[in-house]
Amino acid sequence: MDIGYVLGSLIMMTVLGLSVGNFATSLTYRLPRGLKIANDPPYCDTCHTYLETRDMFPFVSWLINRAKCRFCGAPVPALYAFVELGCAVWFNATWFTLWPHAVDAYLVTLAHGVFVITLLSLHIAEKRLFPIVLILIAGLGAIYRVLFDASVLGFLISAYLALMVGVAGWLLSSAVKRQRQPFPAVAILLAVAGLCVGKDSLPMLVGGSAVLALPIWLISQFQPSLRGSTGVIAVGLTLMTLMLFPSLGRTLSSECAQVECVSGKGCQRLMIANCHGPR
Ligand SMILES: [Zn+2]
Repeated sequence: MDIGYVLGSLIMMTVLGLSVGNFATSLTYRLPRGLKIANDPPYCDTCHTYLETRDMFPFVSWLINRAKCRFCGAPVPALYAFVELGCAVWFNATWFTLWPHAVDAYLVTLAHGVFVITLLSLHIAEKRLFPIVLILIAGLGAIYRVLFDASVLGFLISAYLALMVGVAGWLLSSAVKRQRQPFPAVAILLAVAGLCVGKDSLPMLVGGSAVLALPIWLISQFQPSLRGSTGVIAVGLTLMTLMLFPSLGRTLSSECAQVECVSGKGCQRLMIANCHGPR
């Protein structure tokens, strides 16, 4: 790859990712409070001073102002900076993985990840899932599945199976605690994630989320704001990984398939005949 292309792409994707991440943070603040999403310039939550241009550079302003409002000194949550950084990483990851050989998959995966990051950030801030963001994720996931499976049935089956895993976990936890628990957000997200990754990737989705939950739980011991969101973060991050690298999900699956992307034609799944047979 040409070094100029790599550097140019890196800068462009980082700037775009940070800007979109900035929009995701304003959703995190405004959606739960029923505030207008657009048409209102950014302001400090505490002193309500409208921000100046130098305060509005995503992530960079947060670093320069040392995580504080420059006018009143109120702390600016690290969550906002991490959401902006997360979007920048996601923009780069999807660009270098999928562009330009799989434009369809690139656009869907890019938007999908941004909504997953927004959903996670809202859950960390408010400890609940927001249906509107969840519906956007499910809708994009369905488009992604139709793109890969060329069938509508695929995502219906995988959503159902993933929901059943979540219901089983819910019944188990209710039985262990000897009283009925509220239906957990993590089970709802698992069903939507199952819809997005397809049934072949379900074992990796469930297994990967369980493994990832442990380090996130450890971090949450030092970062109390993450408590109550560890399961949701684990499922969300596993979902993003499997959307970007679909072949990862099939390493645990019994089916032999690989995704092949052809320039101008998009992606398709290819079944490999006799791959379990004697060689
Ligand atoms: Zn302020």
